[in-house]
Amino acid sequence: MVQDLMKKFHEAAVSPRAQMDKYMAEGKKIVLTAPVYTPEELIHSMGFVPMGAWGADMELNRSKEYFPAFLCSIVQSILELGIKGAYKGASAIVIPSLCDTLKTLGENWKYAVDDIKFIPMTYPQNRKPDYGIAFTKAGYERVIRDLEALGGKYDPAALAESIRVYNKHNAVMRRVDEVLAVHPEITAAERSDIFKSAYFMTKEEHTALVEEFLAELGEAGEEKIGIVVSGILTDAPQLNQIFDEFGMHIVADDVAAQSRQYRTDSPEMDDPLEALAVKFANMDNCSVLYNVKKPRVQWIVDTAKARGAKGVVVVMTKFCDPEEFDYVMIKKACEKADLPLALVEVDRQMVHFEQVRTNLETFRDMLTM
Ligand code: SF4
Repeated sequence: MVQDLMKKFHEAAVSPRAQMDKYMAEGKKIVLTAPVYTPEELIHSMGFVPMGAWGADMELNRSKEYFPAFLCSIVQSILELGIKGAYKGASAIVIPSLCDTLKTLGENWKYAVDDIKFIPMTYPQNRKPDYGIAFTKAGYERVIRDLEALGGKYDPAALAESIRVYNKHNAVMRRVDEVLAVHPEITAAERSDIFKSAYFMTKEEHTALVEEFLAELGEAGEEKIGIVVSGILTDAPQLNQIFDEFGMHIVADDVAAQSRQYRTDSPEMDDPLEALAVKFANMDNCSVLYNVKKPRVQWIVDTAKARGAKGVVVVMTKFCDPEEFDYVMIKKACEKADLPLALVEVDRQMVHFEQVRTNLETFRDMLTM
């Protein structure tokens, strides 16, 4: 039954600690993976369970001892959780260097959370040329050395197998995104659970659950107002509740914590570590990935048109400079394409969503006039 499966997605999405405890009770070691693109395949291949660490909706206290208030709340809440012991038992956290705020997270983590090892993953800005691919590969080699120090073993054959597991998961997530575009009865909150639960389950388990869900999905429900959602993170229950209350149906997302993760597969190559570096080089259409011509902007417009969306909602994580830089271009491109656009701001400390509600209510009225 679809509802039973939705319950499983929801339980995993809202209880990462329970998932962590379950894996640790099975004798598995956990490695936390911070946003935005951590080489999970590598961690998986070395015998660890990668577990997403994108922070949580909470009040920030201790993290303020390390960060100024104007850094994004995702990073601040990751550190807050670390200091408060929410990740206790994890072997390490891998933090990529893809934005300036993430760079400070790693350095602060070393002092604030001394029982969970910080492993940096330094990515190049110019990821596409050969020297960029070589740089990324060298970064992965450093991650291997750090994971070996924690008892992991690197084996190219195991990495090739993990890449197959992750490519299969990518494919099923792309499929669910396509299918949900024509199933308005699946709410924004449920859609969020499907994507969020992927961070707290092994990819093998999540792939099986999503495949089961796709097989069980029945007739499409009544049409709603199709929108494309763009941003870093859109998992706040209050935000999704507002989308649902106003009859908005997410027909596609350009969200870093959701579909952006699954657009690019690792290619088949003799050297799987090189393949992982090529995968990173081949990624595009994301605010934290350097692209001179910003194809992401046109991607949003084209996807909205292709999926029949009536408008685009940009969910801006407060103080996220990579997203703020892109917003002006997104706005101009949507205006040029006659695509209505709304901007709402969120952060992980937010408890009152009335401003978001008012913005989206006005937007709903505009789209249904
Ligand atoms: S990309 Fe934005 S939201 Fe993500 S860590 Fe950097 S500043 Fe925060």
